[in-house]
Amino acid sequence: MKITAIKTAATRGHGMHLWVKVETDAGVTGLGECVHGGMQAIAIIEFLAPKLVGRDPFAIDAIFEEMRRSHVFDGGAGGALITALTGIELALWDLKGKALNTPVYELMGGKFRDKIWVYADCEIDPGMDFDQIKQVVDEVLERGFTALKVDIDIGAYSTRRGNQTFTVVKDRFNYHAGQIEHDRMVELVDMVTRAAGKGVAVAVDIHTRLDTPSAIRVAQDLAPYHLLWIEEPVPPENIDAMREVKRHSKNPICAGENLYLRHGLRELIEKQAVDIIMPDLPKCGGLSEGRKSANMAELYYMGFAPHNVSSPIGTLASAHVCATAPNFVVLEFHWLHRDYWTTIIKEKTDIIKDGYIELSDRPGIGVELDEEVARQYQWPGTKWFAD
Ligand SMILES: [Mg+2]
Repeated sequence: MKITAIKTAATRGHGMHLWVKVETDAGVTGLGECVHGGMQAIAIIEFLAPKLVGRDPFAIDAIFEEMRRSHVFDGGAGGALITALTGIELALWDLKGKALNTPVYELMGGKFRDKIWVYADCEIDPGMDFDQIKQVVDEVLERGFTALKVDIDIGAYSTRRGNQTFTVVKDRFNYHAGQIEHDRMVELVDMVTRAAGKGVAVAVDIHTRLDTPSAIRVAQDLAPYHLLWIEEPVPPENIDAMREVKRHSKNPICAGENLYLRHGLRELIEKQAVDIIMPDLPKCGGLSEGRKSANMAELYYMGFAPHNVSSPIGTLASAHVCATAPNFVVLEFHWLHRDYWTTIIKEKTDIIKDGYIELSDRPGIGVELDEEVARQYQWPGTKWFAD
């Protein structure tokens, strides 16, 4: 079997969802998804495609590594080049599974579990009161989720003190949390965990927006809440700073959504600067890299909880890796208010039921993109699976 063409299309969603279709002379095709690669990723795939025509599509790791190494001067360590290769990588796994009539998880060594626990990323505004927060949380719980994540980094919000309303605006560049901001972060966690109740896992994301002393103070004051994790309390560039925060936190620290490849995660893992790694598989290098990263983290008894903003295609692709990683904790779902979550696939069903993805024995990734529906959300100025 030989690759005959690689084509792309792009859809609006959580940013751009780039579809990558690999075609072969045997008539078998594979479809992958990558995210956060931007228009650059499309141009990179167009550039790489002629090099891959005529190649054996089953040599997934070799193709990925050859392309990465031969373009190491063009961004082979991270960024759009890796994301573009990721889209191709996912498509190759889908193709290989279909050609062999086997689900991807079987090709990756088999399952440790049949059901993949999923958490819902939900949006709260830092100015919300308890009733408003409860409404957001209830909506998620009513959909069957037993785990959720909220953002507690504060940009601007209004608060009432007595009968006066203050608008607090956090300095965008100074990552020090003042007393009001600190108190509000803790207050938000208190309200969300009370709204969720016992038995619901709550993770909180700080989006790297604190300096080290502020992050340590927040981590210490969140100790009583038994959170699923505190995500990216400080920026990811300084691993030692992350480790300092971890040393002071009773709650697990989770980071890594903006790192690429195993290489990007290595120092975070080796220095044990976090408790859980969270690579975004349809962005950071694909399924093989995800599996290998999970295995690296496992050596340090760290959890693996992939970040995920993808459609059902990329989400299910990630779920295959989650099934094959012993240290998998939970997978993200980020399409709460996008109703084409179910219509964008031909199956017309929610792949998440009662907060879990149950893996089927369908070949490849296991769901098909409904191109007609996806095209209704086509990214302006992009081609639709054309040569
Ligand atoms: Mg995050």
